[in-house]
Amino acid sequence: MLHRPNLGPKPALGYVASAIDRAAERRNDAEFLAVLEQQPDARAYVVAGELIPLKKTDAGLDPLFKPADARALGTAGETVFLGLVDGRGRFGVWLDPHGNDALKAREDLHVSDLRSIAVQGLVGADHLAALAEAKALLLWHARHRFCATCGHATTVVQGGWRRDCSACRAQHFPRTDPVVIMLAVSGDRCLLGRQSRFVPGMWSCLAGFVEPGECIEQAVRRETQEEAGIRCGRVSYFASQPWPFPMSLMIGCHAEALTTDITVDRSELEDARWFDRDEVAAMLLRKHPGGISTPPPIAIAHHIIRSWVEDGRGPHE
Ligand SMILES: [Zn+2]
Repeated sequence: MLHRPNLGPKPALGYVASAIDRAAERRNDAEFLAVLEQQPDARAYVVAGELIPLKKTDAGLDPLFKPADARALGTAGETVFLGLVDGRGRFGVWLDPHGNDALKAREDLHVSDLRSIAVQGLVGADHLAALAEAKALLLWHARHRFCATCGHATTVVQGGWRRDCSACRAQHFPRTDPVVIMLAVSGDRCLLGRQSRFVPGMWSCLAGFVEPGECIEQAVRRETQEEAGIRCGRVSYFASQPWPFPMSLMIGCHAEALTTDITVDRSELEDARWFDRDEVAAMLLRKHPGGISTPPPIAIAHHIIRSWVEDGRGPHE
């Protein structure tokens, strides 16, 4: 029986606790959406490139604006239908990020990137999930204005859930990019890596995009082999998380390492090494004597690592 540290209450994963009913069956009803947006209780989240403006109020920071107020904050682009909360419309409004300096100068707003908003807990968990939906969808629109088939300008339909080309009749749907993020495990040790862009002292799971024609298991094995030179056998799915930077889905896995000699690909990683359970437990709790840590609970990496430390989750379970 392996020693399994108890780390106390489990924190929540970020970007998943949405209160929004996407009401996909209403997306093609343009009249319904137009009326819904005019209702006094309709609200919109604002996405200005990588930045999110939050309203300063006596009760704290509020990410919701009346749709017309949201568009008046700058040069507005698409308004998309995110869904309904208790029958009230929730929308996303895109602002041209060229106006971000003016936005940041406003004293009635707190303007920050979504990662910082999440890590600092500036808004509730349900708002975080809605902002992830708005940001991923609006970023897709910003990058897909023209038909990928014929190059003609496309138009937004279905409340923002499709773009149509009037020239060649192609329909384009918002995309989500699958990323595998995995913890390779060998006995009582796990493999963590560091990218140079990480904050100092932070170690995390290895990760990479799933390639065309590849299943999740193959992507896990390929990425682990490429980045650290470790061959993996069995792979088990753990959980997934929307990751709106800009529009990914993180697919969390545990993998059984078949080899232990690490060869780091320095173009991908600054370093990679094996960690034992007690060391990782201290990192998760931010009590490691060397000051090193794992990503915060907002990120799925924290939960993948923690489930192995605490519950013994791995490819054998
Ligand atoms: Zn076209």
